[in-house]
Amino acid sequence: MIQELIKVALAARERAYAPYSRFRVGAALLTSGGEIYRGCNVENASYGLTCCAERAAVFNAVVSGERKFQAIAVVSDSDDFCTPCGACRQVLAEFGGDINVIMCNNKGEYAECKVAELLPGYFTLDPDADKPGHCTNTDCTNTDRR
Ligand SMILES: [Zn+2]
Repeated sequence: MIQELIKVALAARERAYAPYSRFRVGAALLTSGGEIYRGCNVENASYGLTCCAERAAVFNAVVSGERKFQAIAVVSDSDDFCTPCGACRQVLAEFGGDINVIMCNNKGEYAECKVAELLPGYFTLDPDADKPGHCTNTDCTNTDRR
């Protein structure tokens, strides 16, 4: 399944819109039901509006009714493993710290770990809790919100 995810991510990378950085990224997100959703980075002349491939894949899946994910593969053109940025780590964590992240290089090699390992103490909100939010890092001493 990992090889299939990488293959889909590579195909998604071909759709990347990256005229400014020329750093093309593709992502393939596997749902708990076995469906795969693609994402690519979409840059903008107003750089801050750029959206990464990982978030594009998550949003693509969510708009299709998916909310439970097993894994995501991320590929770029780089020799280095392509790791999700901080924003994408938080967006992935929204759907579970145990999502497997498969970070690939341009040689087809990869490293993998869980979202919670990439973003320890990621922020969560419990929709039923009295408090507005909390940090998932149990070692953090500043977890109470005012
Ligand atoms: Zn990102």
